Amino acid sequence: MTLDLSNTPAASEEPVSTIAALRDRLERAHLNLEAALDAVINMDEAGRVTGWSRQAERMFGYSQAQTLGREVAELIVPPAHREAHRQGMARYIRTATPTIVGQRVEVRGMRVDGSEFPIELTIAALLQNGVHFFCAHIRDITDRKLAEDDLRIAAVAFESHEGMAITDADGLILRVNQAFTAITGYSAAEALGQRMSLLRSGRQDEAFYEAMWAGIQQTGAWQGEIWNRRRSGEVYPEWLTVTAVLGGQGQITHYVGTFTDITRRKAADAEIQQLAFYDPLTGLPNRRLLTDRLKQALASCARSHHPGALLFIDLDHFKNLNDTLGHDQGDLLLQQVARRLNDCVREGDTVARLGGDEFVVMLQDLSEGLTEAATRAEAVGEKILVALRQPYQFSQLTHHSSASLGVALFSESHHSVDELLKRADLALYQAKDAGRNTLRFFDPEMQAAMTARAALEADLRHGLQESEFLLHYQPQVDEQGRLTGVEALVRWQHPRRGMVSPADFIPLAEDTRLILPLGQWVLETACHQLNAWAGQPHTAHLTLAVNVSAIQFHRADFVREVLATIDRAGAPASRLKLELTESLLVKDVDDIIAKMMALKAHGVGFALDDFGTGYSSLSYLKRLPLDQLKIDQSFLHEALSNPRDAVIASVIVALGQRMGMTVIAEGVETRAQRDFLEREGCHNFQGFYFGHPAPVEALERFFQRE
Ligand code: C2E
Ligand code: CA
Ligand code: CA
Repeated sequence: MTLDLSNTPAASEEPVSTIAALRDRLERAHLNLEAALDAVINMDEAGRVTGWSRQAERMFGYSQAQTLGREVAELIVPPAHREAHRQGMARYIRTATPTIVGQRVEVRGMRVDGSEFPIELTIAALLQNGVHFFCAHIRDITDRKLAEDDLRIAAVAFESHEGMAITDADGLILRVNQAFTAITGYSAAEALGQRMSLLRSGRQDEAFYEAMWAGIQQTGAWQGEIWNRRRSGEVYPEWLTVTAVLGGQGQITHYVGTFTDITRRKAADAEIQQLAFYDPLTGLPNRRLLTDRLKQALASCARSHHPGALLFIDLDHFKNLNDTLGHDQGDLLLQQVARRLNDCVREGDTVARLGGDEFVVMLQDLSEGLTEAATRAEAVGEKILVALRQPYQFSQLTHHSSASLGVALFSESHHSVDELLKRADLALYQAKDAGRNTLRFFDPEMQAAMTARAALEADLRHGLQESEFLLHYQPQVDEQGRLTGVEALVRWQHPRRGMVSPADFIPLAEDTRLILPLGQWVLETACHQLNAWAGQPHTAHLTLAVNVSAIQFHRADFVREVLATIDRAGAPASRLKLELTESLLVKDVDDIIAKMMALKAHGVGFALDDFGTGYSSLSYLKRLPLDQLKIDQSFLHEALSNPRDAVIASVIVALGQRMGMTVIAEGVETRAQRDFLEREGCHNFQGFYFGHPAPVEALERFFQRE
């Protein structure tokens, strides 16, 4: 910013040499007082105001009338500077010659309200008859100061860590900063006068630059990623912002380009990408990337109508290798498997690792029809199985392995990715079930069964919460038909399904371990019933048999829980009988005996259920402290017509009795069956012939009869 001092005496270029000329000038200046942009103040030797211009009134807030005769320093010089000002004036008077001395200084000014602002002060002095007169021209330079600050800040900012280049409207480089040189390798001297195309790498085509310039013209700025070339020839990525600078008329005067080198950020991005989407061990795509590609494959297959296939692969007995040879060898095996899988597929197919020893191969664009596609998928699957069966060579040893493989085809986009993964997984499950080292296709019937099972499981949990279960009791009688006890059989009164048979939900409850809360509920309910019977003379002798699943029995705190339940309900322990099945015996017989003995010590009895259907060895049977054998109903139903079954039944009766147990036959449906059993020496019966499982009230008729 230049100062316009043309109407101030001091600004005059040529030296002012005579007093006459000076006075003339001063008078002219005075005439200009009112018109001047600057404030003009005249003062006498003592620094008192003799003239105060309009502009001075505006600038400082005092009217001329308020100022005449007062010391200027007191009016417009902030207190802190006042003393210095006065001394300056005095020194000035002492040394001043009769000629004018123009001094332009930047000092602080003060308004009537005490507020300060920067001013530029030019003082002209006149010595007449030994007396000084002064004329001060004062300019408010607040705006100029701000502009100067801006410039200074801009200059500092220009030397930032971002590369910067300023070009004129034609794109010729006018200025570059140090960061520009650091990043591009071109010195300022080399860059000035060149175009920015100096840096072009050739990685972007003409269309790219056209779009970029169109953006700048339209919106005044553009930013984006761009590949440029350093002086050394190295190509690097940068993040570039180009801003157009507009002149007063809105025309573009300059362009400012700022950029940062993003080589490192890009490398970091790539690494993050690698970590997020690839399995570190094998370098194969992970589940996330597979899911992504599967989505795309489904979409493209809806367009092309070419089916694809998803192959789930699981190494057989991989855990064994890991456990025996260690994780390092396990990792080596997985890496070799990954390589073999990649060798089995085409370029466009995806091999992924889901984790552990689970791999997935996605085949795309198999062919037109589903049948043809299935054949192709099967061929690839077989090839994979063969490849994975080849011996694996580790440094010291050769390892043999095999894999199981499940295939799910996809032809329409209406399968979701999840659904498809589940299907392939189910097929894999089937392959494993079929003895491993084999391949299975997804089968919709199996799917239906699994879905139904999942629904039943959810219902079962819900049913437990909502107390949808109840106990029925089936009579057990002696040869006189007198009631000796009952077996508790659980019933599920489902709000929609109706009465659900335990045969349908007990196996599921065992699989999901829901048998634990359910079994506990049964035991508790049964014990409360025993407690109720204990108080009545005609029921006090009744025993109550409760079915106990192996899962319950194998729990470490089974004994404690049973005893606590008996205790809480106040039930006579000696009337409680637990029915165990032979399936229990496959595990740790010593532990079973210990638990049975602990409970027997409190009077609890044991019956072996479904006897004759399992494979229990007689030697085990002899060791178990059982009280009762229950002959399975399957023997009875044929016993009368089939002599073989009849023999077995009679042998079992004899066997039980020889081992000191009572024998009870279940499933007795006819008088003939009952009589046959009695002839064979069996004196206890349970079955429809004597009574169906029913609510406790149904037992009343036995008591009335007595
Ligand atoms: P189970 O322990 O062998 O029970 C005997 C089954 O035979 C019962 O079936 C009973 O209703 C049926 N039954 C009784 N008399 C006759 C007859 O004369 N003819 C024929 N054909 N059947 C007869 P249910 O009640 O359907 O129970 C099936 C199985 O569910 C039981 O077999 C038992 O293994 C299991 N179960 C029932 N309640 C429980 C329980 O509370 N806990 C456990 N863990 N399992 C239970
Ligand atoms: Ca039973
Ligand atoms: Ca049974």
